[in-house]
Amino acid sequence: MLTPTSVDAFHRFAIAAEQIAATTKRLTKAAILGSYFTTLEDADLRLAARYFAGSTFPQFDQRVLQIGGSALMSALVIVSGAEPDTLQADLVKRGDLGDVATDVLSDAMLPTLRLSEVGEAFAALVEIRGNKRKIVGIVELLKRATALEAKYLIKLMSGDLRIGLREGAVEDAIARLASQPVGKIQWVNMLTGDIGETAVLARHNQLDTARMHLFHPIKFMLASPVEEFAEISTRMPQGFAVEDKYDGIRAQVHIGLDSDQSLHGTTINNVRVALFSRTLDEITRAFPDLVESLATVDPGSGLILDGEIVPIQGERILPFQELQKRLGRKTLTDELLQSVPVAFVAYDILYCDGKVLIEEPYEVRRSRLESLSFDTPRLKRAISQRFGDVSHLEQEFQAARDRGNEGLMVKHLQSTYKPGKRGKDWLKVKRAIATLDVVITAAEVGTGKRSRFLSDFTFAVRASETDPTLLNVGKAYSGLTDAEVQELSDWLKEHTIQEFAHGRVRTVEPKIVLEVTFDRVQVSKRHKGGYALRFPRIVRIRSDKPPEEIDTLETVRQLADQLENSHSS
Ligand code: AMP
Repeated sequence: MLTPTSVDAFHRFAIAAEQIAATTKRLTKAAILGSYFTTLEDADLRLAARYFAGSTFPQFDQRVLQIGGSALMSALVIVSGAEPDTLQADLVKRGDLGDVATDVLSDAMLPTLRLSEVGEAFAALVEIRGNKRKIVGIVELLKRATALEAKYLIKLMSGDLRIGLREGAVEDAIARLASQPVGKIQWVNMLTGDIGETAVLARHNQLDTARMHLFHPIKFMLASPVEEFAEISTRMPQGFAVEDKYDGIRAQVHIGLDSDQSLHGTTINNVRVALFSRTLDEITRAFPDLVESLATVDPGSGLILDGEIVPIQGERILPFQELQKRLGRKTLTDELLQSVPVAFVAYDILYCDGKVLIEEPYEVRRSRLESLSFDTPRLKRAISQRFGDVSHLEQEFQAARDRGNEGLMVKHLQSTYKPGKRGKDWLKVKRAIATLDVVITAAEVGTGKRSRFLSDFTFAVRASETDPTLLNVGKAYSGLTDAEVQELSDWLKEHTIQEFAHGRVRTVEPKIVLEVTFDRVQVSKRHKGGYALRFPRIVRIRSDKPPEEIDTLETVRQLADQLENSHSS
């Protein structure tokens, strides 16, 4: 039996991860994690908490180490000396490259790698540009690892430990470590934007010292779909707020004085502004024209707004497609900025005058939002109306559509802002045409001028809110521009899991989310989930949406019933 050479060895991280993977009980997972955490020094606790939460860097940090499967595979081929075909076959059998590493790497190494060294190696890797050089960096790291350590290094580098642990379980473990209620840990994690820092504060009984940091994004509150107005009446019998559902890009805006030193944002006239996307990536640079307008707002002692970036023409909000012309461009010329002007429509306020507002009810937040003065046409407030019941909702839905918006958002008047949660306090009443958010699971080369690209996409929904199993429900090939297909095809080649027919058909890492529309939903014996979409078309690539948030089989089932009824009535 090999003994680790140091108390903070990465070896022990791997062993704890193995134990956690071996149990399905959430409480046992948290207990194993809690007792592992107690043995670590602060610096290592910071890293281990982040790694178990599935991220290599703090959440507020914009660095992400997500290395494609093919680069990791190439590195493993070099380190193990095994034939690529053998590894590929093993990958198909095992389904996880980390597991393949334990099959092919020698067990004879003594564990010497420290957690801190892993942290340094990840920080160096994220800076390396170019696939070849990155592979060299990965090889160097893997060579220092035992087979078991390599398994978890690979999992961490690919962006997912896959041991059935979410950030919530890590929060549970920290709560145990510090004998604190988990709600308090969640709150501090939200404030600091770093589960690692949260763990260290908790251990030292310093949770109360955590302060909100401007320019660290907070997770977004999400909405649930409703199919029938009756559901609104049941959930919110006392009345509710109704806002338009704007079809743009969700964004969180941070505005503060420049004395708030930060990695993020752009400063204009002493006011610093940063924009973050729904995936918490900084997108300030893509909207220089908006930043200028946002910098005219008096930030007081700091402001965080939640809202939507939409394309506009004068007062009119334009379809999302207009905005697409601006997205993904490497350089934004003045001409482009002028031809596609955008506005920010604020619909929530999370921080103002040195106070975090997320625990305040909707009505209080709304009146704070209304008290802000916006003196530019590029900044708007969502219209918010109070409705006592659902009798006029249909009419309002149509009015929202006529205003160029997607539908309605119905919000509970007493609801707090729940970061990262998809609850029933915000309900979305979607457009008349049904669309689904799905993830690409496989791709195939197209025909004609698309025969050089992977342009036919098989896509899946999740089995349910709690079961992330992916179930294919269709295949789409129309709706994207040639440039989009080309870019997607390159990405999918890099993130292939398995190739068939000489690479003409591939299963791919399920990371790319598409919004698709279709004619109807059919019951299908060929598909595992039991349903298939007929004549699906791609509406857009939803790079703002992570695969964990795609639609579920339940929604497909509801759409099937609904469309069935509307066809028969
Ligand atoms: P979906 O993307 O279909 O899950 O719908 C939820 C999204 O609607 C949010 O993430 C926002 O980007 C968007 N949205 C548009 N208008 C509003 C609004 N008034 N309140 C909240 N979310 C909105």
